[in-house]
Formats: sequence, structure tokens, C-alpha cells
Amino acid sequence: MKLSHRITHITGGGSDGWDVFYKARRMIADGVPVTELTIGEHDIGTSHAILEAMHASAMGGHTGYAMVPGTHALRKSVAARIAARTGVPTTADNILITPGGQAALFAAHTAVCNPGDTAAYIDPYYATYPGTIRGAGGVPKAIVTSPDTAFQPTAEALTQATKGAASLLVNTPNNPTGVVYSAQTLQAIADACKENDLWLISDEVYDTQVWEGAHISPRSLPGMAERTLVVGSMSKSHAMTGSRVGWICGPADAIAQIINLSTHTTYGVAGYIQDAADFALNQGKAAEEEVSAPFRRRRALSMQALEGQNVVRAVPAQGAMYVMLDIRATGMSGEEFANALLDAEHIAVMPGESFGQAAAGHIRVAMTIADDQYVDALSRLIAFASTRAGATP
Ligand code: PLP
Repeated sequence: MKLSHRITHITGGGSDGWDVFYKARRMIADGVPVTELTIGEHDIGTSHAILEAMHASAMGGHTGYAMVPGTHALRKSVAARIAARTGVPTTADNILITPGGQAALFAAHTAVCNPGDTAAYIDPYYATYPGTIRGAGGVPKAIVTSPDTAFQPTAEALTQATKGAASLLVNTPNNPTGVVYSAQTLQAIADACKENDLWLISDEVYDTQVWEGAHISPRSLPGMAERTLVVGSMSKSHAMTGSRVGWICGPADAIAQIINLSTHTTYGVAGYIQDAADFALNQGKAAEEEVSAPFRRRRALSMQALEGQNVVRAVPAQGAMYVMLDIRATGMSGEEFANALLDAEHIAVMPGESFGQAAAGHIRVAMTIADDQYVDALSRLIAFASTRAGATP
């Protein structure tokens, strides 16, 4: 039987960029010890306090259908957090609770793209972006950045590439590069959206992981609140990846329409998960800092490990749970390097090419294992790269 074009073409054909990850998983299943630095999964689990709140809610009976837009309490807490962090007046009517940031990305594109509309996004990008756009019926268009501009898009590229598009998707702090967009870049993004009359979809799931500078939500720039849909999530900020809870924040009339989409797709998020998320948000900043602290620490450890050699260079990253390493001095592609490193050292990292053409010749390292093991893995990675480059580590 035939399946729809939308489904069979969702990945765009070719490799989905996860080959090294799957190879590492096969090795682990075969009993080979592999140091896993591929995906953005914390090495700590969800805190016991959050799990206890979840348990109490479920045992208290919040196991039936929950309100589709989200419980009023959680919508209010998310709105209050966003208002406090950005200064933009935000109420529960601006918030739709979704099963994670990924569902929010899909719902946001479905809301603003008609079939065949161009939806722009910045390369390097989080691996699901083009498929999400295709799944929502849009036509993905990459705006390719360069390591020479620290992977920040230029004003010219933004204005040119977004002409005639319906939406622009940006992500800061950025996965995979760890780059936090400057005020200047965000202004250029806002200008391009206003000039070409675009919706901005702003993926801010790493907003609590900023090591240098400050995260600016583009929704807070003049004239942007009415054309921005912010994607947020509890996954990274509260180590709740498996709970599947996130949100879209946007104009109340747009949110009211997107709620109709939720009614016909997800039918909301489990009530006990929402209660746990509400509990977590009300723990305040200290709880978020506890979750982000290991990555801040390991980012500093990464910089120390990279000192005194110039074969492996870090992209100057200011946020998120990854370091992006430039390994072009080895003469290998990111994919060749990641495969060879896995074979020789049993260290699994993501090739830059998995995140678009701009990150070719790079690898993304997730800082998601204990500090001592992480430092050991990095020093073996550097020694491996140095040998390949013919240099002394
Ligand atoms: N956006 C970015 C940039 C991500 O890296 C991720 C997950 O890794 C997501 C969105 C989706 O996160 P979730 O669906 O767990 O909220």
C-alpha cells in the first residue's frame, strides 16, 4: 500500500546523520565499552523532588484527560517565567503546553506555513529541523552560516534568504555549535522578519544554559512579540527529557488557533506530568542552575584540555551542553573523523555534517558524562587527532 509523500519524504532521503550514533549503540549492545558523547541527555536524571511531585499528582487522581491547552496552573507558571526573564508582558493565554519542544516546533510550523510555503532555518541546525518543516507541509530553506562568523548568520544572508518565505526558525543558545546569538545578530533577524513579513519561530530550549554573555529572546525586540512563536521545553532546563513537556509562547489569537491543532493531534499532555513541570518551575532559578552546572564546569574543562595544541580547536561557544570542535587540521571530514575515532578509541561523537553543510569538518561533543571520564575522553580525542594530523599532541 502507498504511503503519503509527506511521510515518505519527511527525512529528505539519504543519511539521516545518525549513522555513528547507531553504530555506537550496536557496539554497546555487543558488549563493547563505548564512551558516549553523542546525544543531549543529562547524566543526572530528573530530580527526586520532581518525581515525587509527579507521583503525588498521579496518586491524587490527575490521570484522566487533562485540559488540551495545558493546565491553567502550568500555563500561568510558564507565562510568569517568560515575563520575568524577558520583560515582555505574558499571560496564560499566550501559552500552549505541548509534549516537548519537538511537538512545539511541528505545531508552530503547521500554524504558519501553508503547503508549499518556504520555511527558512539556519545551518548548522538541530537535526530534526528540515524534517519537521517537511512534515508540516513547508519547504525547508537553509541559510548557511560559516565558522568565520562564529556560525552567526549575517544581516545580508538573512534578508536575502527570507524574501518570500513564510517563517524563519532560529535557535539560540544553539545546538550544535553552542553559540549564543549576539544582540546584533538578533536585531538582524528581527529586521529580516519585519522587512519580509515573516513569522519568527524562536527555539529557546537551551535558555538556562548560558556560560558567557546573556540570552536575549528575540520576542522581546520591538515589534516582534506579535510575529514570534517561542518554543520552550522542560527537557534541558530541568533534566525532564523523557517527560515530554514543553510549550509555545505567542500572540493569544495564534495560540487559540494552535490549540485546535492540539485537540486534533496530541490531545494535550498528561496531567501528572504537567503538575510535576509546574512544581519544577516553582522551584526557581536555583534548581535550574543545579541542572546546568555540570555543563558550565565541563565547558571550562574542555577549554583547559584544548590548551597547548592547535589541531583541535573549539568553536567559541557560550552556551548549551555541547562543544563543537574544528578538526579540519586532520584533513578528515567530521564523518570520517567520528567513524575513525569510534573504531580506534571507542569514543562516540556526532559528525558536524549531521547538522548541515556549514559544520563540515567539525564534530559535536556532548558534555554528558562525569568530569573525570570527560577529560580523559577529550585528551584521547586530541591525541588521536594529533596523530592523524601528523603533529605531536
Ligand atoms: N530544539 C533543540 C535545539 C534541541 O536540541 C532539542 C532536543 O535535543 C529540541 C528542540 C527538542 O527537545 P524536546 O522535544 O525534548 O523538548
